[in-house]
Amino acid sequence: AVDSADEAGVVAKKILSEMNHPFVVNGHTFNIGISIGIALCPEHATEGYTLMRLADVAMYQAKTSQTGYTFYDHRQDSHSVEQLTLESDLRTAIENHELELLYQPQVDMATGKVCGLEALLRWQHPQRGMISPEQFIPIAEQNGLIHALTAWVTRQAVSQSAQWRHHGIRLPVAINISAKCLFDPQLTTSIRDQLEAHQLPAQYLALELTESTVMADPNRALEILTELDEMGVRLAIDDFGTGYSSLLYLKRLPVDEIKIDKSFVLDMLDDRNDASIVRSTIDLAHNMNLRVVAEGVETEILWHELVAQGCDVGQGFYMGRPMRPAAVQDWLQRSPWGGSGS
Ligand code: C2E
Ligand code: CA
Ligand code: CA
Repeated sequence: AVDSADEAGVVAKKILSEMNHPFVVNGHTFNIGISIGIALCPEHATEGYTLMRLADVAMYQAKTSQTGYTFYDHRQDSHSVEQLTLESDLRTAIENHELELLYQPQVDMATGKVCGLEALLRWQHPQRGMISPEQFIPIAEQNGLIHALTAWVTRQAVSQSAQWRHHGIRLPVAINISAKCLFDPQLTTSIRDQLEAHQLPAQYLALELTESTVMADPNRALEILTELDEMGVRLAIDDFGTGYSSLLYLKRLPVDEIKIDKSFVLDMLDDRNDASIVRSTIDLAHNMNLRVVAEGVETEILWHELVAQGCDVGQGFYMGRPMRPAAVQDWLQRSPWGGSGS
């Protein structure tokens, strides 16, 4: 809130000198180092979130160079320039038909047959090729585009599931819901509208929410999840084990299923900690009547180990990778895991 670079510099120096003495707390002396990043409007950017981001980049430059304060300099910031182009490209990705949903099978470990599909988003960038959701979902969450993306994913997945059902393939399709979208008051209405528009019974739609999403505001999450549960939508807790919530707490929520994160599953044969996390999660979940899905089942050995531990459902490259809808149909017909879908 200052109007020139000079003034910003003066303010920064003042803050630095105010902080530049030891603080005594409970008899302990603390020396606190601070770093300030400055971005200027309109020289560097005009939108609030972009300015904050550029100031953040400048702050990291100040930290590395130990200069106290630093102005944003795009020449030292090829990474953030790349982020910003990605961000503006993402704004037009939907209308340019660059987004696509792939579907990965989930297999019932007792019968060895497919029991569901997870929809996973892909972005085919015209210049950069395929971009992973791990790269662009965080950008979309920061700049608010996640709402449009989630609406697109919901529409697409519900319509695909209805189409499959029409062809005798009766499998629930799961979509991933970010925290921002769970707490969006429009979410339940838009899901209800989509199900109605495609005449799809709610039990063919599952929502995957991460542990940290529901823990961000447990009371509101409980309210919204109760409403979705009453609609008949299936609910799963995703990436279980990566947060700090207890299963005991999660059990208060009307969820049907928890998914153990692939980081634990992939290492469970070599790492005793990961093995015991997987084992105790399965036991605890079963004591609470929750179904357990293991992500990251890459090998036959992992499959057998998880079957032996009583895991309910497996998802991973060993059974099937995320595929285009046509390839899913092919997989259902040809693979030994397919077959119970019709
Ligand atoms: P996630 O929800 O945990 O999805 C599982 C990820 O594990 C997927 O990565 C999947 O391709 C990958 N995977 C499945 N089986 C195996 C395996 O056997 N080995 C290994 N190494 N990986 C396996 P993907 O498709 O790259 O998605 C990454 C993350 O992006 C997802 O993690 C999810 O958090 C997010 N995401 C994807 N699509 C959407 C979406 O439509 N909306 C939102 N909000 N997030 C999405
Ligand atoms: Ca997921
Ligand atoms: Ca995961």
